[in-house]
Amino acid sequence: MRKLLQTGAVLAAGGALVYGYLNGSRASTSAFFGRALVAGPETTPATPTVALTYDDGPSPRNTPALLDLLAEHSVRATFFMMGSHIRSHTALARRVVAAGHVIGNHTVTHPNLAHCLPGRVRRELEGCQMLAEDLLGVTPVLFRPPYGARRPDVVRTARRMGLTPVLWNAVAQDWLDIDAAAMLRNVDRGLTANPKVGRASTVLMHDGSQLDRNLPLSRTDTLEVTKRLLQRNKNRFTTPLEWLSNVQN
Ligand SMILES: [Zn+2]
Repeated sequence: MRKLLQTGAVLAAGGALVYGYLNGSRASTSAFFGRALVAGPETTPATPTVALTYDDGPSPRNTPALLDLLAEHSVRATFFMMGSHIRSHTALARRVVAAGHVIGNHTVTHPNLAHCLPGRVRRELEGCQMLAEDLLGVTPVLFRPPYGARRPDVVRTARRMGLTPVLWNAVAQDWLDIDAAAMLRNVDRGLTANPKVGRASTVLMHDGSQLDRNLPLSRTDTLEVTKRLLQRNKNRFTTPLEWLSNVQN
């Protein structure tokens, strides 16, 4: 069932509705570099709809605790995994799949695709797809370009492969040297602003790092932010996949 959800025809959704959620005022949500899904519609602003997304994993240092936390609250999140990390930490990546989370394509090696030749773009996207299919048994239908960097032809290549680019409109900035309280304030700015324009929130965080080698980077603060968001009763959690499915229905 899960595989069906991820491989299904949701991408055929295509249509204008998805792209009606775009906000051209910031780079992460600008349509200028190629259209992408940012977040679904918000119909109940008092209860913000939130899609938690985690990039650059899986990471043996952070992902297990994150999975425990999400399971404790029965919340489904989206993990935009690097192919190289799927290869290095296959058992952990399988655990993420088995827990029912959505797996997205985040390339194999995390290059800035806006600076890559078309052949490299294709190899990065196809490589991550193949690793997810061969090692995890799922075919991602969501794609997040590293750094949010893209060009129209990158987006076209992704779409030809059945991948919908997914960006964000709330960001913890957990790559900066700031504490969990500051990260939460960053996220809250998005969670407060988005419903006012009729939009749900896609939160960008990281459970891994593209710099991970032998000793993966700690994401303790990210876990703390996640915990606080999960503990708030008023949030409703969803995934970009569900937004796409709803557009189709
Ligand atoms: Zn990344």
